[in-house]
Amino acid sequence: MSISLLARSIVESPTLRLNEKARILRERGEPVIHLGIGEPKNKAPINALLSSAAKLSSGDIKYTPSDGLPSLKKAIIRYTEENYDRVVAPENVIVSAGAKQSLYNILFSILNPQDEVIILAPYWVSYPEMVKMVYGIPVIVAPEDGSLNPRMEDIEHAVSPYTRAIIVNSPNNPSGTVYSREFIAQVVDFCERKKIYLIMDDIYHKLVFDGNKAVPAYQFTRKDVESTMVIVVNGVSKLYGMTGFRIGWVVTNRKLVQVMNNVQAQTTSCTSVVLQAAAEGALNGLQNAVEGLRLTIENNRNVTMQELNSFKGIKTTRPGGTFYCLPDFRAYSNNSEQLSEFLLEKALVVTVPGKEFGMEGYLRLSYAGSVKDITTGIERIKWALDPSSPNEIYIGDRKIVRDWL
Ligand code: PMP
Repeated sequence: MSISLLARSIVESPTLRLNEKARILRERGEPVIHLGIGEPKNKAPINALLSSAAKLSSGDIKYTPSDGLPSLKKAIIRYTEENYDRVVAPENVIVSAGAKQSLYNILFSILNPQDEVIILAPYWVSYPEMVKMVYGIPVIVAPEDGSLNPRMEDIEHAVSPYTRAIIVNSPNNPSGTVYSREFIAQVVDFCERKKIYLIMDDIYHKLVFDGNKAVPAYQFTRKDVESTMVIVVNGVSKLYGMTGFRIGWVVTNRKLVQVMNNVQAQTTSCTSVVLQAAAEGALNGLQNAVEGLRLTIENNRNVTMQELNSFKGIKTTRPGGTFYCLPDFRAYSNNSEQLSEFLLEKALVVTVPGKEFGMEGYLRLSYAGSVKDITTGIERIKWALDPSSPNEIYIGDRKIVRDWL
């Protein structure tokens, strides 16, 4: 069988692989706790359901314009005005099958082979793979040891004549870090001066805690949407917990939207009209679902931090947003893949190895699930690793004695 060199070089999505493993164990009746998944447990907002149900029952299920339903784009334009204080035109907006496709289409449309994209560790697992998929080169900028914040000077050092873009994701998956105003201001200024695209992955921008707000990059540029290097990516997955609806979008200059539209038209034609109707319903409906979700997740963050703070061996930075945290487990192991496997095998808890995010020795824990999953999951991890915790535990209805510490 002939498989291309490029396709062969793309790694399996680690989170999807772990989901599959957890599913198989669950099917065997094992009481697995999933602290790996990035999906809240909420139901989709009622307006999303009504709007997509109305579309479905009309029976009129056809192609839409490739860049999205005009009425959905209108809702996105309003969202952009309300949340980013920018008035943009329909020609500045393109809808895709999730922010994932949005990001891929941007990279496909701006990179020539061997062009470089700066990615800040810890990073979302898909960024480097997507850059490779369009024959680009991911250039990783790591934070100082012990920190989860990138430094502007390290970014400046990593920039070369081939740098076309920097991807910034704040609030950040996997660390939950919300980058400071100063940092965002510096990176916007730098990109505008150097004519490097700044791809802002804002997918978690409403999931911010402690009374704070995410800082939109647009705030720091006077340039209008046609001339700024800032590209904004967003979507309904994390905003409304509508991961299965697969709707994301990009706001950028008309030229780039046109090119991305051609790419999309030749690959997917368009996103499903039913799902676009759902996104439109969510965006136009009451926004209390967003705040409800945020409050639930903030409470989960508090519970997670309380549990982790009593776990002496690990170092945790308090997340300012998202539903992830990235504790440093190097006191127990420098090999996060082995550690994650060990925790799944012994404690039946799914975690994601930090290595996948460019942070070896760390594990990503998600607190998108229930409070019970969080407390039981962390209790099991403690039991498996910390000799000062009781050496007997109930996992499901089995009493297990720890015999490895
Ligand atoms: N960016 C980041 C940082 C994410 O975590 C995710 C989803 N896990 C996405 C983009 C993609 O979201 P979507 O479901 O809209 O494709």
